[in-house]
Amino acid sequence: MLTDMDSSQLFQRAQQLMPGGVNSPVRAFRSVGGAPFFTQSANGARLTTADGVELIDFVCTWGPAIHGHNDPDIRAAVATALEHGTSFGTPNPYEVEMAELIVELVPSVEKVRMCNSGTEATMSAIRLARGYTGRDKIIKFAGCYHGHVDSLLVKAGSGALTLGNPDSAGIPASFAAETIVLDYNDAEGLQRVFSDHGDEIAAIIVEPYPANCGLILPDAGYLERLRETCTAHGSLLIFDEVMTGFRVAAGGVQERVGITPDLTALGKIIGGGLPVGALGGRAEIMDYLAPLGPVYQAGTLSGNPLAMAAGIASLKKLQQQDPYPLFEQLGAQIRDTLLDAAAAKGLPLQVPQVGSMFALFFSESPVRNFGDATGTATDRFSQLFHHALEHGVYLPPSAYETCFLCTAHDGDAIERAAEVLAEGIQSIR
Ligand SMILES: *Cc1c(COP(=O)(O)O)cnc(C)c1O
Repeated sequence: MLTDMDSSQLFQRAQQLMPGGVNSPVRAFRSVGGAPFFTQSANGARLTTADGVELIDFVCTWGPAIHGHNDPDIRAAVATALEHGTSFGTPNPYEVEMAELIVELVPSVEKVRMCNSGTEATMSAIRLARGYTGRDKIIKFAGCYHGHVDSLLVKAGSGALTLGNPDSAGIPASFAAETIVLDYNDAEGLQRVFSDHGDEIAAIIVEPYPANCGLILPDAGYLERLRETCTAHGSLLIFDEVMTGFRVAAGGVQERVGITPDLTALGKIIGGGLPVGALGGRAEIMDYLAPLGPVYQAGTLSGNPLAMAAGIASLKKLQQQDPYPLFEQLGAQIRDTLLDAAAAKGLPLQVPQVGSMFALFFSESPVRNFGDATGTATDRFSQLFHHALEHGVYLPPSAYETCFLCTAHDGDAIERAAEVLAEGIQSIR
């Protein structure tokens, strides 16, 4: 046992010691209401809370746990690495193996730089794009999340084009002013901003399947349009595949759709549950990074041997098992269950789904951008969330997150969860 305190005792203590009682805001359950549970241990598709309750988990540590929690192969790899020391501060052999794996799996990547989080990866990608192009402006899309990077914590305004206002206190307006925010799937807005500012734009950064405001899929030809526009104007295309990398295919969205970004940000699954991020791309661009080039980027614990060992084990297991066809099948199964339940109840529901990722939008029509997503009935999601939690199923504690499947969501777990979610939809008022 990690603790003999229950969740409510722990949360009371935590709130005295940490802002909001958490180290990352969504964990505090603010958007669905109620108090968070504390996890004592996690195995396969299940979490065990400090209150001794077992939950079927669709958050999967926000993406990394694609093999389920406490995977024996990842655990064994970390244990072996631990025999040799926890950090060296010099180059180590794991880094080379990790780089080889990434280059092999992710189609556009010729060289990589490891870091410690997705945020570091996108932050460094932006800096590299600016250093390489000698331009300052960045285009991002409303509702896409790229970590808590100053210039990327800018979301939306009205209209197709908004010169950014920061979403967070503490970000100078002058930083955000270099960020242009567009609506995802808006090809005309893209056209307009490039005819006005084309030669000032260092890069477009995009979650190719936006998955931090529910799950949004691209219109036919839209990602191709981004690629062509960047190429035509000498801007770089950055795919933020922190969430989709190794999840929607071993090579991420770029493998699924056959589009080659200039730079790719990776995270989550790449660490096998330990803190890891990576930035990769065309060798000629990557060589602008120090020590070869003028763009500075560094990290005391970057390429950490334990983290690399966990990540390598996770990626190799994906290569060996090829779970992607199974995910398509499980994902479709849960999507159909949800849609059938909503139809039986007469509730409008959209369930965008790609392989092991799905989201619920209580809405009449498909969600194509951030504005559509914020227009959905999020109170219904909150009701479903609480019904599920009371019945042993943990959905992400926000209507704007994506649900994840892992390979441990097999027969029992998926059937039980489908039953609970169908009842939950039935019980929505
Ligand atoms: C999670 C996420 C990040 C940030 O990664 P952290 O490891 O939390 O810093 C960036 N981009 C996307 C698309 C993400 O899903």
